[in-house]
Parts: sequence; structure tokens; C-alpha cells
Amino acid sequence: MSYIISEDKYSSNLNKTYEGMMAQGNGYFSVRGSFEEGLIDAPQNEIYTRTMKSVTTEIQRSPLSKYGTYIPTIMGDHPFLMEVIINLPYFLDFIVYIDDKKVDMLHSNISEYHRELNMKDGTLNRSFVLITDTTKIKFTFERFASMSSKHLFVQRISYEVLEGNGKISIESGINADITTNGFNHFKNIELEKKKENIESCITTDLDFKVYTITNLQSEKEASISVEKTEKQIKYILEEQFSSGDKNTFIKRSVMTTNRDLDNVNFIENGLQTLDVAIFKSYDELLRESQEIWAEKWNQSDIFIEGDKELQKGIRFSIYHLIRSNNEDDYRVQICAKGFAGEAYYGRYFWDSEIYLLPFYIYTNPKAARNMLMYRYYTLDGARKNAARYHCNGARYPWQSGLTGEEQCPLLEYADNEVHITADIAYAIMNYYKVTNDYDFVRDYGAEILIETSRFWGDRVNQDKKGMYHLINVMGPDEYSPMTKDNAFTNRLVQFNLRNAVKMVLLIKQKSPKEYDNLVSRLKLDKEELDKFMEIAENLHLPYDEDRDLYLQSADFEDYGEININEIWKDRNRAFGHYATQEEIYRTKCIKQADVIALMTLFPDEFTTKQVEIAYDYYLPYTTHDSSLSPAGHSFIANRLGRKEDVKKYLKQSLDVDLSLEKRGTEDGIHIANCGCLWQLVVQSFAGVSIDSVTGQVKVNSNLPEHIESISFSIIVKGEKKQITVS
Ligand code: BGC
Repeated sequence: MSYIISEDKYSSNLNKTYEGMMAQGNGYFSVRGSFEEGLIDAPQNEIYTRTMKSVTTEIQRSPLSKYGTYIPTIMGDHPFLMEVIINLPYFLDFIVYIDDKKVDMLHSNISEYHRELNMKDGTLNRSFVLITDTTKIKFTFERFASMSSKHLFVQRISYEVLEGNGKISIESGINADITTNGFNHFKNIELEKKKENIESCITTDLDFKVYTITNLQSEKEASISVEKTEKQIKYILEEQFSSGDKNTFIKRSVMTTNRDLDNVNFIENGLQTLDVAIFKSYDELLRESQEIWAEKWNQSDIFIEGDKELQKGIRFSIYHLIRSNNEDDYRVQICAKGFAGEAYYGRYFWDSEIYLLPFYIYTNPKAARNMLMYRYYTLDGARKNAARYHCNGARYPWQSGLTGEEQCPLLEYADNEVHITADIAYAIMNYYKVTNDYDFVRDYGAEILIETSRFWGDRVNQDKKGMYHLINVMGPDEYSPMTKDNAFTNRLVQFNLRNAVKMVLLIKQKSPKEYDNLVSRLKLDKEELDKFMEIAENLHLPYDEDRDLYLQSADFEDYGEININEIWKDRNRAFGHYATQEEIYRTKCIKQADVIALMTLFPDEFTTKQVEIAYDYYLPYTTHDSSLSPAGHSFIANRLGRKEDVKKYLKQSLDVDLSLEKRGTEDGIHIANCGCLWQLVVQSFAGVSIDSVTGQVKVNSNLPEHIESISFSIIVKGEKKQITVS
């Protein structure tokens, strides 16, 4: 049961929630869990203007349903929002009419409704009985994105007439009448019938081409015609039925693009993929896909005894982490919504390096390396960002897309949330520590470490006493946008600078040829490396000695108090909805606690007493308005033995996407929280870490009382290790 997300009663209020929660995918593409027939009152081609707002407090335009078909490399150009992921043509389309009346989950008389996502093999199945005045028909819809043939999606739809007779009409094809965030990104749509197949080729506003080809087979002989309008092409079929009749349809759809790395003509590739799939049955195609899913689960499953909710939550997290990751394409990462919605425009944040990467490092190092390769691939974009601010080196964007050039339209984040650059350096070293992949560091990582250090060299200011400072910085706590010396940022910058030097020296010692190449290519000299070290040693870390308290920023105590409890009327919504931005910015309220996050990244650097002091100090100010916050608090509470808090924040983390009251998945999955939950279970409850001196795996478990055991495997330095703690 813990691999199943199910729904037994249809509620239109939860339609969008399940669309996000039940998203399917195989890394190459993802689709939301929308119904094949859509909903009558939910047009997918609305045009409206989405402008720049804070995503935390923005009320998303909320029609009843939003389809979603995403290929991470296909982004478009929005006049205000910059690069955005494009919602591509909908190929799941399968619309049924009984005696000319459209079947619709909201308006038709439906009984025995059941829908379930099986996270073990990525299948999404739905069945129901339709009751009309004259007939009763059982319908079954099944579907999956193939894990073994990455461009392929397969559906099986059956009906069985339980009572009565009448006429059934079916329309099924490709619908290119789709907008993204209210905007039409399709510059051109070509639709065609070719032999038994129908296809669409759209050209986006950035001149990318996306090809969709689909084939519908009816088990019973049927006369199928094709109809084409300006933006849709579909099979049409009509038949009379009487009691006892049944039929099954198989729809195989393939998507390819001219950006694919397959290195073949994308249209040919699409045709060939479909040709191969047509000779295989639904069950055969499913079996092939299931085999790959089984391998993925075998690599990454976690078995938990004693907490069913957590068991389900962790499987939900692992499922979405697997299905949203394309480990074969270095030009993409995983967007903040896990390609299950449009809310964050398909962009990549620090979420990738700090919250998602550990899962891949320990379960699928190839995928982890690929994620870091994306940062190497976008290094030139990061160089351009630095140059825009008249700095040397590379400055990674707060929100990244196709090129690594900044995509965040809101300047307080784009300008000030600079920690992302150092977070990437942290991630490189974290990857190296666990995998020992020296080649990656030598060939790619070192260059990133050096270029980012150069940026810091220009971004810091030096005071008269020789101390360095970072002014005008937003840390991970986005409720303080312009602080002085943010502790999280400064500590990570220090780490960035020191490790640039350390890795350069390592390469010098281990690979003199590559070292010569690196220093000449980057025009690096000893003086510059010394400068990095000097800055690192003298960068201010705000700390109050009297209280043994690490301060979020040097000026944190200057911020005002705010009565959070009184202002925050409904805890199901973010605090940010109840206070103005001005109040939030001038007071101590915190979106997610920086110092607590810092203490999870560098656990050995802080005494338990210091952690406790910080935890108690920041907690009353912390709103957890960011979904990245609760799991981290459970992590730290576990270190401190605060049993109630461990449970409280664990529950909050599980609720982020799985609570039906909160409806958190309407516009996508909070994929960073999925990664946070994984870290909580593996790194805090099971206590896995890498010993900084010996480099060996350490297991220092600290199970909450109610959990009897946790069992999983990890890959460290190429070796698989099975871990069970009880
Ligand atoms: C959080 C950021 C995060 C972003 C995307 C924001 O609400 O404050 O830390 O990177 O969401 O998940």
C-alpha cells in the first residue's frame, strides 16, 4: 500500500492537487495526472498576463484543471517572466461521448470511481462506472511513461457495457491548443495524418521543434477517421453498443525534439520509436518499463517500520525524484516543481545542489554527476552574470534555465540571493567526498571552484581592519533581503574559496599536465590563490560571544519584533499572506532559518550547545513559509533530542505535498522537500555521513522512538552498502 496514492471519490476541489501528486514521467518528459477527457469547464488555452510576483504569496490562477506536458529542454520566451518551461501539446486526450453526451467526472453520474498511482512502476490507472438513463458502462484507463523507451508513453483504455444500449463516440488525438501560464508559446503548429498515425510538430517562440506522434489501435474492428482543426488533430470513432459489449484501445504516443541528444533526426527517431512500440502489446511494453523501475527502486528504496505515513511519504519523495530526473542530459536539472506544474516556470534553484543532490549522490552517482555537469555547461552564462555586475569569475543565477544567465525577474532575489554560487561549490565537494570522482573535479569541478572564487573576490568589501564583508545579501531566509554578512552565505563562501585552493593543489600534485593546462587556461597564479585564502580567513562570520549565538546576519538584532501569532490568522496558508512585505522586510520574522540550515550542512563545526542556542533563538521567529524549512528543523530537533519537535516538523514536511487540506501539489511537487525528507531519514534518523578524517561511511543512528527500523542501500565510492538500523 505504501507505493500507492489513491483516490476513491472524485472531488473537483482536489482535481489540481491530484494532477500534481500523480504526475508521471521518465526523466525525458513528465505529464501531470490530468484526466484523458479533461473537464468540461476547464479550458486549457486561456490567455492572461502572469507578471512578477513572489511565488510564496502569489495566488495562482486556479482553473479546475491544468494539463502539463513538459520536456525540460523545451523552454520558451515570456515577455515578463523570461525563460519559462513550455506546456506542450496534450497527447493523453481520450474523450468519450455516450449518446452524444460528453463523459465528465464532474457532471456525469459516476459510481465506483477509483484512481491510483502505483509509484512502484509509475502506472496511473482509473476505473469507474458511468450511469446514464439508458445504460451502465464500466471504463478503465491505464497509462505509463515508458522507463525503457524514453520518448514513449502508452495508454490502454477499455469499456464494458454492463447494461443497456446506445452509441459511443470517441475522440482521441493531439491537442496543441494549450497555453503556459496564460501565454501561447507555439509560433507554428503543423498537424498531419501519416499512414495510420497522426502527428504534430510545433515550433516554439525560441524556434525549438517538438514532434508528437501517436497511434490509436482498437481491439475490435472499428472504422476510425481523422479530423483536423487549426490546433488539434484527432481520431474519431463511433459505434453502437449493447449490453455485454466491450472494447479496448491502445494509444502509443512518442515525443521527440530537435534539441534531443540522441544524435539522430528527431522526426525519424520519433517514427522509429513508435514503429517498434506498435509491435509490442501494452503488457509487454509495461513489463519492459517495470524492469527499469525495479532497478531504480532497488537502488534507492527505503524500508521503514513503525511509521506508515513516513514510509509512504519517503516513497512518494523517491518516486518523484526518480521520475523527474534526466540523467542522460547534462543541459537540464530538476525544476523546483519537479516538472509537475508551472508555478516556478521550470527553473532550477539552489534546491538542486543542497536539497536534491544528496539523494542522487548516494543512490545514483551518475545522475548526481549529470546535475553538476549542468553547472559546468552553464558556466559561461554564470560568467556573463558576473560581468553584468562588473565582477570577475562566475556568478550562478538565482533561477537558472537554458543558459545559466539569470532568469529571476524579481530583482531583490536576482541581485541579492548570491549564496547559490557558493552552494554549487559545496555540492561539488559533497559529491567528491561521497563518490571519490576525482576526474570530475579535475576536468570540470575545479574550474567552477576557481571561477566562483574569483567572483567572491570582487563581491566582498574589505574594511579598514582588513576584515572582509558581504553587504547587501539575501540569505536563504528570503524575508530579509538586504542584510550585512549573512552567516550562511559567508560560511559557504569561505568553503568555496578554501576548496578552490585545496583542489588546485590536489590537481597539481596528482595530475601535473592537467594542472598546467588549467592554470594557463584560466590564467591562475599563486598570488590569486593566496588572495582566496586571505579572504576566506578574514571573512566576517557574525557570532555573539556572550550568548554563544551565531547570528543570521551581522545586523540581525537591528530588525524589529513582530507579533507573528497575532497576525497569522490561518496556519494552513503562508504567514506571508497576512503581513505586508514591508513588515516582513523590516522585522525579524524568518521564512526559513539560515543558521539552522547552516548547521545541517556543517554538523561537526557547531557544538550541540551552540545548535541548541540557535534553535531556541530562531524558532519563535521562523514561519516555515518555505517548504524547505520543516524537514531541516526535524533534523536539528533530532540532534537535540527534542522528540516532540522531531515529530511535529516531520509531519509538516510530510504534509507539504501529501496533505489534501493544504493542496500543496496543485501547481507542482515541492521536490526540494522530497530531497529534505530523504536527508532527514538517511542522514539524521539513520545517521549516515562520511567521516571527514577517514573518508569512511559512518552510521550514527538516532531513530525517533516510534520508528522500529530503517533499511536501505547507498553507494559510496562506487561500492554498494546495505544499511539497517533498528
Ligand atoms: C524558497 C527558496 C527556494 C524556492 C524554490 C522559495 O520559496 O524560499 O529557498 O529555492 O522557493 O523552491
